[in-house]
Amino acid sequence: MVVMKFGGTSVQDATAIERVAEIVRSRHDQHPVVVVSAFAKVTDQLVLMGQQAVAGDCDAALQLLGMLQKRHFDTAQQLLGAAEGRKINGKLEATFAHADAFLRGLAAIRELSPRSSDQLLSFGELLSSEIVAAALAVRGLDTVWVDSRKCIVTNARYTQALPLAEETRKQTQDKLGAIIAKSKIPVMGGFIAATAEGVTTTLGRGGSDFSAAIVGAALDADSIEIWTDVEGMMTADPRLCPDARTIREISFNEAAELAYFGAKVLHPATLLPAIQQDIPVFVLNSGNLKSKGTRITARAPRSRDTFRAITAKTGVSLVNVVASRGVMVHGFLRSVFEALDRYAASVDLVAISEVSMSFTMDSKRLPTALISELERIADVTCEGQQAIVCLVGEDIHGKPGIAASVFDAVAAAEVNIRMISQGASEINISFVIQENDVPKAVRQLHARFFSPAVVAQAAAASGKRTGKIRKATR
Ligand code: ADP
Ligand code: ASP
Ligand code: MG
Repeated sequence: MVVMKFGGTSVQDATAIERVAEIVRSRHDQHPVVVVSAFAKVTDQLVLMGQQAVAGDCDAALQLLGMLQKRHFDTAQQLLGAAEGRKINGKLEATFAHADAFLRGLAAIRELSPRSSDQLLSFGELLSSEIVAAALAVRGLDTVWVDSRKCIVTNARYTQALPLAEETRKQTQDKLGAIIAKSKIPVMGGFIAATAEGVTTTLGRGGSDFSAAIVGAALDADSIEIWTDVEGMMTADPRLCPDARTIREISFNEAAELAYFGAKVLHPATLLPAIQQDIPVFVLNSGNLKSKGTRITARAPRSRDTFRAITAKTGVSLVNVVASRGVMVHGFLRSVFEALDRYAASVDLVAISEVSMSFTMDSKRLPTALISELERIADVTCEGQQAIVCLVGEDIHGKPGIAASVFDAVAAAEVNIRMISQGASEINISFVIQENDVPKAVRQLHARFFSPAVVAQAAAASGKRTGKIRKATR
């Protein structure tokens, strides 16, 4: 059994959805389960509509909803034709009527809680999954639309919900098992789920990848395929670095580190369920049916490059906490960590000395109350618009000179480093720079470690080394 997830651009219009049908057909014998994102940009537009409604501009929100409705109906019409289209029009209309009432409600109460936000954003995946299920059926694939909220059971951490493994396994097997047993193809929306009480939740932005992995783990799938708009996981974000190359094979650990530190191609939590059950994950290009993409498994062959890839996470704040003069040094660090714990702060990088500590956090998740509390025990500075650049590779540990070479390349790009971290994880070197320096730093690092000349040199050197060893052992 294979779980196939198609991202926003892979279902952005009728042509893209036709390609999805062909890709799914090519996996027909492997019992596919299809997970789809909302059409490209729809989730962003739903976020915007929520903001407009809460700001009192209900007309603007409803106008945007009208455009969204036209886009969905036009796409359905192109894919299904009038007669078949009529069969799902009722369902689409009901979802849009619900969205309309919901936005009017938000405008009336002028408040958007995380719980209501999840409800609002769920419309995107509900609509796309209905249309894709019907479009595949019209093309001869025996699909059944499935409500993901009846499969994935989460906690009530709205906007960032986490699955409850046992409940999800049971519900997913109950719901999908019978469909797959009849050789039918379940089609469901990614990103959305529900609490045990049935309240809609979402798994965080970009969470459809995570949905696919959760479903794959619940069904003990043979593989999980993430179909997207690039040729797999690459040595850097191709939008930042046009020379980026596709990585053919990569380990779970390396890919998870890249996802966590900003490689948007995978939602950071995607690999956890796959690792737990040792299910290979493939990242593939839906624009290319013959895509070989990237294979992610527990053990990947060694890379010829020094690093597997470079990534950058933007939208980060750098917080420096220095013990105030006269404050007992003893207990300082404990007080800082206790404060972080009280706010459940999810810290990325930390650097510590006896009287000071610097840490980074996603700016959107940094509570101002935490900063106020730290100010009571220390001098605190907090700088936004920072970024973490992270170079990942399983072979870097114990190789002398690598860090020097990294920092030399960053200096050549005339970029100032604010904080360094190496050692906490044996497979990465990370450092903090200003957000607007990211493109030039990443390009310079990519040229240093991945340019064809460097790779050829590394290959020749490793050839020479193996030659020498062979001679010595003869
Ligand atoms: P989808 O809508 O299919 O989920 P996303 O936009 O979430 O697609 O992720 C794909 C994008 O991730 C690519 O278009 C690319 O710009 C970006 N990306 C960032 N880092 C990497 C990387 N290392 N390899 C491949 N893509 C990357
Ligand atoms: N549609 C959601 C988002 O844009 C989930 C996803 O695409 O993975 O965040
Ligand atoms: Mg994505």
